[in-house]
Amino acid sequence: MAKVKIDENVCVGCGLCVNACPECFELSDNGIAVVTNPDCTSDSVKEVATQCPVDAISVED
Ligand code: SF4
Repeated sequence: MAKVKIDENVCVGCGLCVNACPECFELSDNGIAVVTNPDCTSDSVKEVATQCPVDAISVED
């Protein structure tokens, strides 16, 4: 099962991951994305990880 993480020191809050995969991510009050479901199994989550502009998302199988 996938383990999804965001490096909050790297995230710039662009919102891409939240828009692409709202079942896994949301933007916190400080404008940084957080993982709401670390076991997210959405097929799009790996795709989103490759699209993050600062490479802040990691997905472990
Ligand atoms: S795509 Fe990357 S930089 Fe953009 S909000 Fe998500 S984790 Fe942050």
